[in-house]
Amino acid sequence: MEALLGEMESYALEHYIPILREKERHAFCRIVEEAKPHRILEIGTAIGYSALLMAMFGAEDVEVVSLERKEDRAAKAKEFICRSPYRDHITVMTGDAAELLRMLQGPFDVVFIDAAKGQYVRYFRRILPMLSARAVVLADNVLFRGYVCSDVKPPRRYKTIVKRLREYLDLVRHTPGFATELLEDGDGMAVSGRLG
Ligand code: SAH
Ligand code: MG
Repeated sequence: MEALLGEMESYALEHYIPILREKERHAFCRIVEEAKPHRILEIGTAIGYSALLMAMFGAEDVEVVSLERKEDRAAKAKEFICRSPYRDHITVMTGDAAELLRMLQGPFDVVFIDAAKGQYVRYFRRILPMLSARAVVLADNVLFRGYVCSDVKPPRRYKTIVKRLREYLDLVRHTPGFATELLEDGDGMAVSGRLG
């Protein structure tokens, strides 16, 4: 697995694909391992790197459904996944996440949100009824280059994203029955666990 993951890291670097950062990987895997998920939903597959990590650290019978809009990326993800021992545990669906989400059914034990940064609020509202009793929702890049939790004004082109990510953090922090922790390494990951 390490050789395959290393190859994926090089591929991502070479093609400017933003996969899970080295700094986030350890905490990410530990959280998945603790949750022992049977069913995982990922929004934003890219080349399948985080999907594979989650499959590795999930329960024995883990099932990962991962959504990706770009066809070339989804194809590359399938290629990498097919070369792993988790090929029968991961399904990559190609299309816009908001559309695909309508076709899915829960329950999900872990959800990793890592696609269109402006859509996190929408995704969270959509997945809320599909979460299992002890579900954990991870959301990547919520600090967005440091702008989300600082007074520094973001460049104009990032204004909307920053505003929407703030709305996401506000939403998860105020959703009854959830506790949210913010991992500040990398680009910031929000970890929202359903209280048992
Ligand atoms: N989770 C991956 C990285 C995902 S990068 C990892 O850590 O290995 C974010 C991905 O989300 C990109 O590949 C992008 O094409 C995809 N994406 C962005 N908007 C999307 C949307 N609306 N629907 C589905 N996928 C989307
Ligand atoms: Mg990310």
